[in-house]
Amino acid sequence: MAAPPSPQQVTPPSASTSQPPPQQAAPPSTTAGRPVIVLDAAHGGTDTGARGETGIVEKDMVLQIARTVRAELERQGYRVVMSRNDDSNPSYDERAAMANAYRDAIFISLHIGSTGNPGTVRAFYDQLATPVAPTPVAAAANVKSPAPTASGLPQWEQAQQPYVEASHRVADLIQAQLAQSFSGSPATATPAAVRGLRSVAAPGVAIEISSVSVPSADSLTAAATPLATAIARGIAASRAAGSTGAN
Ligand SMILES: [Zn+2]
Repeated sequence: MAAPPSPQQVTPPSASTSQPPPQQAAPPSTTAGRPVIVLDAAHGGTDTGARGETGIVEKDMVLQIARTVRAELERQGYRVVMSRNDDSNPSYDERAAMANAYRDAIFISLHIGSTGNPGTVRAFYDQLATPVAPTPVAAAANVKSPAPTASGLPQWEQAQQPYVEASHRVADLIQAQLAQSFSGSPATATPAAVRGLRSVAAPGVAIEISSVSVPSADSLTAAATPLATAIARGIAASRAAGSTGAN
């Protein structure tokens, strides 16, 4: 069911027509009408992720980058929730549940790859290995938990199914921005089997920075702010293009 549209704020025209209306300042940071961004620093705890020869460890670097990305997205007016903000390792389903708790969320999982040309960034969306018939999950948009199976167990692994198109679109739009900021990055997003997105009942994108093999961590930490800008622009473009398909 669609939510009632938010009332449009209309400013009546000024009585004086001798001057153009003053330029309205950008609205103060507001989360109204914007998705909650669930920022997922992948791995954590005993799951270190990729390791580079110079000592770069994926789980630590993605957390550091995620904190910078969060600050930048918040500065741009987004509400951001971190799937972890320490060296813990929530399960895929626990991370997904943080996005699934919101009516309007976008899940962004951050990785640093072990391969790829250093300085490039790729966006992935989940390409489900086994297509399934549409489930009631899509229809029951207000019920963000996966639909129960006949046995009563939630179909966690089908949660992303109704959102694959929306995920593909926002991943492409983010990737287009990444291609501008990170030379050599692909122009379009990459389909892959991404388990970390599969339980997410919202548009979800995994972003992988290349790579843990760079000589210095500085180039990775320096990527955080342009990465945040690319994410924000991609999400804004997906909103401008229409519904995310979540409703
Ligand atoms: Zn990873």
